[in-house]
Amino acid sequence: MEGGCHCGTIRFKVTKDPYWVGACYCIDCRKISGSPYTVFAGYDENVVTLSQGIPKNYASSEKVIRSFCDTCGSPFAYTYKEVPNKLFIPIGVFDDPSSFVLQKHIWVSQKLPWIIIHDDLPQEI
Ligand SMILES: [Zn+2]
Ligand SMILES: [Zn+2]
Repeated sequence: MEGGCHCGTIRFKVTKDPYWVGACYCIDCRKISGSPYTVFAGYDENVVTLSQGIPKNYASSEKVIRSFCDTCGSPFAYTYKEVPNKLFIPIGVFDDPSSFVLQKHIWVSQKLPWIIIHDDLPQEI
C-alpha cells in the first residue's frame, strides 16, 4: 500500500499488513490532527519505506516522536519508546485507507464525551 502527505512531498510504501490498528482519543493526537480522534495502523519499521521526501520530527512527549511534512503539515507517523522498532501511521494519509479494519480503542479516558463507541472492540483506558 502507498500513501503520502497532502502536497505530495512525502510518499511512502508499506509492504505488509499492519500488526495493529487502533483509534486513539488522546489529547496529543487531537492537537496534532485537529480531529476528535485518530485511527493509526502500526507496522514493523522495516516494512515501511519512504520513497520521497524527509518528514520533520517533533517530540510531542518524552516517549513519543511524531513526524510530519514541513510543507503542508500532514502527519506521517509516530514512534513510541516503549514499543521499539514500530511505526504508527494515521490511516488517513494512505491513498486508499478503505481496507483497514479497526481492532481497538486506546486512551478512551481522554475521549470527548459526545463520541459514542458503537462496537465491542477492546478499549484501553
Ligand atoms: Zn506535504
Ligand atoms: Zn493519541
